[in-house]
Amino acid sequence: MKTLIIGGGASGLIAAIYASTNSDVTILEKNKTLGKKILITGNGKCNYWNSNQDISNYYSSDIDILKDILDEDSKIEINNLFDKIGLVAKIKNGYYYPYSNQATTVQTALIKEIENRGVNVEYETIVTDISFDNEFIVKTNKGDFKADKVIVSTGSYACSKTGSDGYGYEVAKKFGHTIIKPVPSLVQLKAKGNFFKDWAGVRSDVELTYNNKTEVGEIQLTDYGVSGVCVYNLSSMISRDLQESNPILKINFLPFIKSPIDFINYMNDRNNVVINRNVSELLDGLLNYKLVNLLLKLSGIERTDKWSDISNSKKTILADNLINFNLEIIDTTGFDRAQTCSGGIDLKEINPSTMESLKQKGLFFTGEILDADGKCGGYNLEFAFITGYKAGRTND
Ligand SMILES: Cc1cc2nc3c(=O)[nH]c(=O)nc-3n(C[C@H](O)[C@H](O)[C@H](O)COP(=O)(O)OP(=O)(O)OC[C@H]3O[C@@H](n4cnc5c(N)ncnc54)[C@H](O)[C@@H]3O)c2cc1C
Repeated sequence: MKTLIIGGGASGLIAAIYASTNSDVTILEKNKTLGKKILITGNGKCNYWNSNQDISNYYSSDIDILKDILDEDSKIEINNLFDKIGLVAKIKNGYYYPYSNQATTVQTALIKEIENRGVNVEYETIVTDISFDNEFIVKTNKGDFKADKVIVSTGSYACSKTGSDGYGYEVAKKFGHTIIKPVPSLVQLKAKGNFFKDWAGVRSDVELTYNNKTEVGEIQLTDYGVSGVCVYNLSSMISRDLQESNPILKINFLPFIKSPIDFINYMNDRNNVVINRNVSELLDGLLNYKLVNLLLKLSGIERTDKWSDISNSKKTILADNLINFNLEIIDTTGFDRAQTCSGGIDLKEINPSTMESLKQKGLFFTGEILDADGKCGGYNLEFAFITGYKAGRTND
């Protein structure tokens, strides 16, 4: 049995480990190194798993098939593999990192394991075509390779500098697969407005709401819009909705206050207790001064105005801007700055136990090329690992 794995990223490496048990395995990798993307994951620390395994941390057009893919036995197997290849976890709020805090630990552990298992690697080898005629013929810049089984682990369009340029979608389409339009995910969001230079550089602890989904955490206000983990976690949904219209992201800059009217009551109380302060001084200590200045300006209120002198209508505008700020999203910062991709090969066309194509026997797909994406927290690597395991172990 000869197996070719196209792409030596996270999912391809795991596929190679399992396929090598009963097959002669070659990885065809366009880069000079394996697992290039792993090195930049988790800000160079590689967040590779999470103790919160709720399926709501993932998105797919077919969540039931996704649940079948992410079955308990596979999760146990992957965690056993982590032990076998020497990964020791440092767990922070459920997020798993290598104890060394270095992504290179994960990359090296996977590479050592494929070396131990005798996996052959062809570096700087770019696959340009795959066809099937009794066996697979894989064309590359370094000649043709033949195999009984091909695992396509080429990633998506996200972060193309690491090698994933969307080539795998062409293979999938050639074999008759449906591609749900890939859009950038875990990505910064560009917004409409001419005030961004006023808030650029500010970090604020906020509650973000989009379509009844809420994320609480630190947001980074930028000269194009917003960034930060809680923005990323809503970006998959927003990125998809951007295809239809401009989504409105709601920001509560004071998450301990739940409504605009509560804010006005809070300020009335504060004004009685903290005496002889103007409105900007009353807001001092609650928010960054740049943000206070901007929100007052957008509400038509002078910094020096006394709270008691401000009209009720202006107080209401300020309360809305603080508790219910409507940010119109016009775009993402694109695939090159995205950590992953939402959309991909329709899971209905894949066997969830084996990751084999239902269109072509012997052809398998793993990782980000499939229509599944996770929030920040190790979920995208988990999906890459489990799909790699399932595709690799299958040999019939
Ligand atoms: C900045 C950043 C931070 C991230 N942080 C995290 C994190 O902390 N936790 C987490 O869970 N996820 C994280 N991710 C997402 C995670 O890294 C990916 O989801 C995962 O690596 C996808 O694995 P993959 O095997 O599908 O694809 P990739 O890792 O992209 O690997 C694809 C491989 O295929 C090769 N290839 C492509 N086309 C060809 C071709 N034609 N011929 C030969 N080879 C080819 C590429 O060179 C590449 O090596 C992050 C991503 C980025 C960009």
